[in-house]
Amino acid sequence: MSDNICVAIDGPAGAGKSTVAKQVAQQMGLLYIDTGAMYRAVTLKALRQNLNLEDADGLTKLARETTVKLVPGLQQSVLLDGEDVTEEIRSPEVTGHVSTVAKVAGVREVLVDRQREMAGETGVVMDGRDIGTVVLPQANAKFFLTASAEERARRRAKELAHKGYTIDIDKLIKEIQDRDYMDSHRAVSPLAPAGDAVIIDSSGMDIEEVVAAIISWIEKNK
Ligand code: C5P
Repeated sequence: MSDNICVAIDGPAGAGKSTVAKQVAQQMGLLYIDTGAMYRAVTLKALRQNLNLEDADGLTKLARETTVKLVPGLQQSVLLDGEDVTEEIRSPEVTGHVSTVAKVAGVREVLVDRQREMAGETGVVMDGRDIGTVVLPQANAKFFLTASAEERARRRAKELAHKGYTIDIDKLIKEIQDRDYMDSHRAVSPLAPAGDAVIIDSSGMDIEEVVAAIISWIEKNK
């Protein structure tokens, strides 16, 4: 690990992590790394191949044989074995299965190694579920971003509607709660704030306020 600055942003689904992390990275001149996109890309490939999602060895082998590349830019693109899957990995089908794939220890090992490699190369803002606890426990700044499930579902509904999906808000709340439950109760690297993370409840805040709070904390504490 080098002396590069690393900022870890963890939290449950739909808390606004990626939007916030992207803006913090942009304003601080750091590289944004969306680790959820990596789990989503492996899930998409597993679904396409009709793999049994309970087969941990099969999924681990698949993760080892898969290249996921995050191409930096205003709209970060995600390449799965060279194919642009930026949109497809956000589909409800992938979203509905990703937590099952992400609980496999072997899959996590493969992806965590790649995440650490990326953070070793340059300064990063990395978002996910286990960045402050497992991937980069030495991060200079750790944040845990949260909001009520209802608020998070409302935000997701807006995003999905924008992409043309039809939304049932109660179903979305339930899906978010189920995913939170799986992510925080799995045996390996469960979703949890690191002991030294700053916890931000973004329920009544807009994105700019959260970004400003994070940058100001980093400036004061670096
Ligand atoms: O952040 P996003 O909602 O795209 O993440 C999708 C899923 O990937 C999460 O629900 C979680 O199951 C998994 N994930 C994870 N560890 C990370 C990032 C994402 O387990 N660091």
